[in-house]
Amino acid sequence: MQNLLDLDMAGLKAWLAQIGEKPFRANQLLRWIYSRGESDFSAMTDLARTFREKLPEVAEIRLPKVVSDKISDDGTRKFLMDVGASNLIETVFIPEADRGTLCVSTQVGCALDCSFCSTGKQGFNRNLTTAEIIGQLWLANKALGFDPAGERIISNVVIMGMGEPLANFDALVPALNLMLDDHAYGLSRRRVTVSTSGIVSAMDRLREACPTALAVSLHAPNDALRDVLVPINQKYPLSELMAACKRYLENAPRDFITFEYVMLDGVNDNPAQARELVTLITRAKFRCKFNLIPFNPFPGSPYRRSSRERISAFANVLIGAGFVTTVRKTRGDDIDAACGQLAGQVQDKTRRVERLRIEEVRA
Ligand code: SAH
Ligand code: SF4
Repeated sequence: MQNLLDLDMAGLKAWLAQIGEKPFRANQLLRWIYSRGESDFSAMTDLARTFREKLPEVAEIRLPKVVSDKISDDGTRKFLMDVGASNLIETVFIPEADRGTLCVSTQVGCALDCSFCSTGKQGFNRNLTTAEIIGQLWLANKALGFDPAGERIISNVVIMGMGEPLANFDALVPALNLMLDDHAYGLSRRRVTVSTSGIVSAMDRLREACPTALAVSLHAPNDALRDVLVPINQKYPLSELMAACKRYLENAPRDFITFEYVMLDGVNDNPAQARELVTLITRAKFRCKFNLIPFNPFPGSPYRRSSRERISAFANVLIGAGFVTTVRKTRGDDIDAACGQLAGQVQDKTRRVERLRIEEVRA
């Protein structure tokens, strides 16, 4: 049984050829499934009857199961989805005046273990499938519907939920293709942002396969500190990361990299560190913007959020050096839907949670 949500246009055409059907049916299927949100083959009325009757025998549209749907005081909405074997992932919708952004997960947990991230502390179970990634958008669209002008409520997608998207490259790319495909969701490349902790080899592959907007989680101005906060830095240090960012923009001179920088009190929020950051980025010579994220605490986290004054002082150094800098509003923290608070439920396979407990007992 083929889950159609696992296939982008190219995949669908290849599958249709295998079952002896014409490639143009791929357009029809994508329209029904994504533009119209239909999951029942018998309702797809303009498909040839023989094809429509054959479909349920060879294919299915299998989605994660929404197990809870909470709305925060500020309108942020968090969906908890069951992906089997007691694993739960989270998807968050963030409404703003001029856009509606869906924050999508790509893994159950995360193996990269950044020291300030709740998802990382949950350990790692597995990669999500393409169907489970695009299924989050499908289900959220269904729940949110259309605005009075008939436009879809979700105008932007950020791949910033649980997991490291570029560590799940092969499932991610078909899902991105579906977000961009005019027959499916038809979002523009600039309205889909992949956030990475800096897996350099996969940044190069993404540029070739599907150059969406890119956000890079920087969090430190030098290798010594970044090695601690974002351990993948030990494999891909800043010099390599900066070069990869530059390559990412080579064929898109109007684009920019968004640098995310979580503000941790007394750890990475000193004005001198802001100046060090300016030197690092000025040397690198490519277009970028900064997005400072006030740290969102979670139970057991060793850090505190920088004060508002500290964050503005840091931002002012960057702005003074000519970089567009925004401070991310903290949204949805009353329902644990803010950045880095997504924990879902992870049947950890890395024994990280167990190791942490042992360390806590020893301490
Ligand atoms: N793995 C990817 C995408 C998911 S994390 C990445 O690391 O980029 C999305 C963003 O939330 C990242 O910038 C991450 O550094 C940030 N983040 C993680 N934990 C956080 C926390 N506790 N408070 C604020 N931001 C956090
Ligand atoms: Fe993984 Fe991103 Fe969290 Fe780091 S910040 S542990 S890469 S989800």
